[in-house]
Amino acid sequence: MKLAAVLAAVDRLAPFEIAEPWDSVGLQVGDRDAEVRAVLVALDPTMVALDHAARRDCQALLVHHPLVREPVAAVTAHSYPGDLILRAASRGVAVIAAHTNVDKAHGGLADIICTALRLEGLTPLAPARMDWYKLVGFVPESDLDAVRTAIFAAGAGTIGDYIHCSFTIPGEGTFEPGVRAHPSIGEVGVQQRTGELRLEAVFPRALRRAVSDAFVAAHSYEEPAFDLYPVDDEVRTLGLGRIAYLGAPCSLEQFAGEVAALFGMPAIRYEGDGERMIERVAVLPGSGASLIDEAAAAGVDALVTGDIKYHDADRADRLGLALIDVPHEIAEGYAMRHWTTQLAEELRRDRVTVTFLEQPRRLWRRLALSTETEETMTGLAQRHNHADDRTLLYVDGGSRGNPGPSAIGGRLVSPDGEVQEEFSDTIGTTTNNVAEYQALIAGLELALDRNVSKLTVHSDSELICRQLTGRYKVKDERMKGYHTQATALLQQFQEVDIKCVRREENAEADRLVNEALDAAAR
Ligand SMILES: [Zn+2]
Repeated sequence: MKLAAVLAAVDRLAPFEIAEPWDSVGLQVGDRDAEVRAVLVALDPTMVALDHAARRDCQALLVHHPLVREPVAAVTAHSYPGDLILRAASRGVAVIAAHTNVDKAHGGLADIICTALRLEGLTPLAPARMDWYKLVGFVPESDLDAVRTAIFAAGAGTIGDYIHCSFTIPGEGTFEPGVRAHPSIGEVGVQQRTGELRLEAVFPRALRRAVSDAFVAAHSYEEPAFDLYPVDDEVRTLGLGRIAYLGAPCSLEQFAGEVAALFGMPAIRYEGDGERMIERVAVLPGSGASLIDEAAAAGVDALVTGDIKYHDADRADRLGLALIDVPHEIAEGYAMRHWTTQLAEELRRDRVTVTFLEQPRRLWRRLALSTETEETMTGLAQRHNHADDRTLLYVDGGSRGNPGPSAIGGRLVSPDGEVQEEFSDTIGTTTNNVAEYQALIAGLELALDRNVSKLTVHSDSELICRQLTGRYKVKDERMKGYHTQATALLQQFQEVDIKCVRREENAEADRLVNEALDAAAR
């Protein structure tokens, strides 16, 4: 299907016109006429996301955080976002941004989280501000139906969940046709008075041309009179964040625990008296400290949001508003992953596949001094026990002679111990360390292609283990390239660790390497 049709599908779920006026949404890089077979959805536009899209044969990357936000003065390889724009173009990956339109939309990010928390009676926290225009046109009664139908068809008259909205009021128009005029009413040089209706309707700024053209085309006058006004409107049924009710009141601490459980967070930060009973809450995934005043004014008990600064918490405290802090990327990552299934459903008929890139961007790292401290600090038990849902990857690379004929081998083993796939290939003449890296990279790519999100890698190369865990510096230029590539791949897993094992424990991967080398030697 064409990229334009993918954009139309996104627009059906989260109309681009409801995005905040300052926001940049829609197609940011690409050609509307390009063919799309698969779409990758990610939180952020990064090199990793673009490369991942290209490798998985996705012709479009839909991101929540826009790639292009402001006018870009130059697109060059060594500036942001030029570097990403060029990479997207060279790899044939279109970039679509769906940001505040997905935040606000029905079934959007805030709705997804509220629903998952089993909240009820959802209404917007901050009504949507619309970047609208209003057409005020003057029409004879006989033209009214045709003109109204035409401007509605051009996109005017939609307010929230209502379509075909307009207003008319009768009045009297005056005019005198000039010598070159061909009036449909009256005569040249004679002053006319005629009964007309004033017709008004709003529409998104982008439709100015379409709506005024439709008005003129459907009107019977040679020179219809109309005005276009910018309006600062808001829509009550759409907006950022949601206010909602808990099914049953509970303590702030209990609710904070439910929020933590939803996002799989081992600990959560909140502000307010933990014993306080809460019933009505506001939810704003991402960054929502700017709506603390609105939430307090709406009289909600607690606001669930992220990116909260110390002084924000202080202000909320003074306003009697409790806060539950869910990191920006955790709330939005969760919600975008679920929104992806809506888009996948929307595009299923056209056989366009849509997948979400589990892309934990490790902007923040965590250092836990001991499990005990963590538990006393948060009062929440650690929920970690990941070993049993990990896929295992065994990789090995070897060369006969250093450098010499080399080969790579590896196997992917499912969490229940079943061998899923093996690879065994020669890679020409190189060194042992290069072969080890190439084996690792091939194994990681295989795991990503098989949609593995939690992985434990086994390697018997001490160099690789130490370089990837940061204990050895990478000095060799050639190794640096492999190291960067492997690191970028490792970042695409939701959870990953590298286990340095003894050669005997990696016997199967070693066998695959030797098989490839033996076959080549024959
Ligand atoms: Zn965000």
